Amino acid sequence: MDRSAGGGTAAVIRKYDVRAQKKYGQNFLRDENVLRRIVEASEVTKEDTVLEIGPGTGALTAFLSESAGEVIAVEIDKKLIPVLEESVGQRENVRIINADILKTDIRELLIGREQGGCIRVVANLPYYITTPVIMGLLESEAPIDSMTVMVQKEVADRMLSLPGKKTYGALSLAVSYHTEARAVMEVPPECFIPRPKVSSTVMHLKVRREPPVRAADEKLLFDIIRASFNQRRKTLANGLKNYPGITCSMDRIVEAIELLGKGTTVRGEQLSLEEFARLSDLLGK
Ligand code: SAM
Repeated sequence: MDRSAGGGTAAVIRKYDVRAQKKYGQNFLRDENVLRRIVEASEVTKEDTVLEIGPGTGALTAFLSESAGEVIAVEIDKKLIPVLEESVGQRENVRIINADILKTDIRELLIGREQGGCIRVVANLPYYITTPVIMGLLESEAPIDSMTVMVQKEVADRMLSLPGKKTYGALSLAVSYHTEARAVMEVPPECFIPRPKVSSTVMHLKVRREPPVRAADEKLLFDIIRASFNQRRKTLANGLKNYPGITCSMDRIVEAIELLGKGTTVRGEQLSLEEFARLSDLLGK
């Protein structure tokens, strides 16, 4: 293994005089054991294509290219492109793209890659856009088999949260609807340059072939979920009534909530995914 990019993050940063840009959420991983564990948890094989979001200086990219068939690495910061070209660009199976992942058509990027092996997203995500990136990937309908992502510990807690908890919300429901999720490991601030203020968690999300519950209208289900958590302090009925995408009358909403066996003062955070699916079918009729 060429260590110039993997274990040598500090050396690469010194050599290219890389100044970590806060606006891009740049915290570069320096710990080789963590890099290895991420690749191991991703279960990537030589048949697979990896989409890496935010390769930075190429530390994770180098480890991934050893195990994957192809690595497509999308980096927003054009100043890092020459660094990446030198650290990993010579590798035949690495493709570097200078783009904003939030403005990238992921389905198009991955066209043709689904034949053969799996498509896996692996990333030490920039924390300022973790939720939009994950929601975007889950809703993209791109043929993604798994995501192994480093996120803030607090976001990992939200992903794994259950009804009734403070951390429970639209992200928890989207993650459990689309994936089987588990926390792989916690990563302390010392493993990064510069050190972030918070602890991080590596999450592995295996994308489900079939959702665990059936709703007749998936778009309505997620509109209802968004509406329920949009104004957390409101009752579910008021949250739904005030949401522009939902056009049912208050009577209809109250009736549906009662049919669920819930009181009219129930809040969205008390409903399970199954209950949201039933509510969506009742309101969609
Ligand atoms: N993968 C590297 C590592 O582990 O050392 C860097 C991780 S750093 C937490 C996040 C990376 O995402 C940075 O390189 C940053 O420039 C990049 N990034 C930030 N916003 C992005 C976006 N919208 N699209 C693509 N890359 C982005």
